[in-house]
Amino acid sequence: MTTLLLAVPIAWAPLWTTPLSEIAPGLRVPVQGRDQYDPASVDYAFSFRPQPGFLKTLPNLKAVFSLGAGVDGFLADADYPRSVPLVRFVDRTLSREMAQYVVMHTLIHHRQQRFFERAQREMKWRQSIPPRRTEDTRIGILGLGEIGTLAGERLRDLDFQVAGWSQSRKNVKGIESFAGAAELNAFLARSDILICLLPLTGETRGILNKTLFAALPAGAFVINVARGGHLIERDLIEALDSGHLSGATLDVFQTEPLPETDPLWKHPKVTVTPHIAAISDPRVAAQYVYDRIVRHERGETLDNVVDFARGY
Ligand code: NAP
Repeated sequence: MTTLLLAVPIAWAPLWTTPLSEIAPGLRVPVQGRDQYDPASVDYAFSFRPQPGFLKTLPNLKAVFSLGAGVDGFLADADYPRSVPLVRFVDRTLSREMAQYVVMHTLIHHRQQRFFERAQREMKWRQSIPPRRTEDTRIGILGLGEIGTLAGERLRDLDFQVAGWSQSRKNVKGIESFAGAAELNAFLARSDILICLLPLTGETRGILNKTLFAALPAGAFVINVARGGHLIERDLIEALDSGHLSGATLDVFQTEPLPETDPLWKHPKVTVTPHIAAISDPRVAAQYVYDRIVRHERGETLDNVVDFARGY
């Protein structure tokens, strides 16, 4: 019998074991820390942030599945057995929720919604129009991958000027493509609203820093919806306090949950959300993993496999 080990917090395990028992009654699904299993019998593992060193204790692993789109939690494990393919979760529903979050926070900023909320609290009839026409507002998306491309297409369809930055050159209708380190500054110089949708890798860690902020136009707005490790928080606060940046929306943080003492909570120019831009649907994820196990057992090639050299 094929065995899929679920390495997640025990209280959350039924989110995946329940749909898996319906979809795949023939699959054995022990939960790490809850159920007895022989490590040598484990064929596949399903996790998000496994304890470092844990996966290497499973000698016969054929593949590991990530519960989320980001795989930095696995790559942080120096002992991850690199010969075992790591499959990330790529799902249109997840990308759609992410794009929705990005569009919402872009529009909240563009339409000055926080200004009107303050006016309402003071019961003041303050009329104002967006300072810049939509078609003159330049959106820059760092990371034009699965999620960045969909978010860019949605914003393009709202008539914003959209560009994306990626490793390789892209050809997406109506979205200007900038590629590689050599084109980063030109991309930043034309980004009034900068949205980070990069994976967290050795190259992108800390990319949202004072040098990058200085390269943005005065008054730029930043949305980080990728990983907290992309942002140097004190650099953001300095750029906001100096007036160079007009505001930021942050969904992800270096430390999660964000500590109560963190100045971001109360910063007047910052919107904080608790890493909820999109959450993988457990039922969809269970089906996704099972489909791939079936195909892999038939000898077919796995898709969405992480390239360890690139880090995503
Ligand atoms: P993806 O499909 O792997 O796309 C990554 C993009 O970043 C690609 O376009 C890639 O370029 C580009 N890139 C990577 N390294 C780069 C570098 N050094 N320089 C320039 N471009 C680089 O990733 P995704 O699925 O869209 O996910 C994006 C992010 O969203 C991840 O950080 C993920 O963790 C995060 N996320 C957050 C939430 C949440 O709730 N907040 C939910 C889901 C995902 P190429 O295309 O040329 O390779």
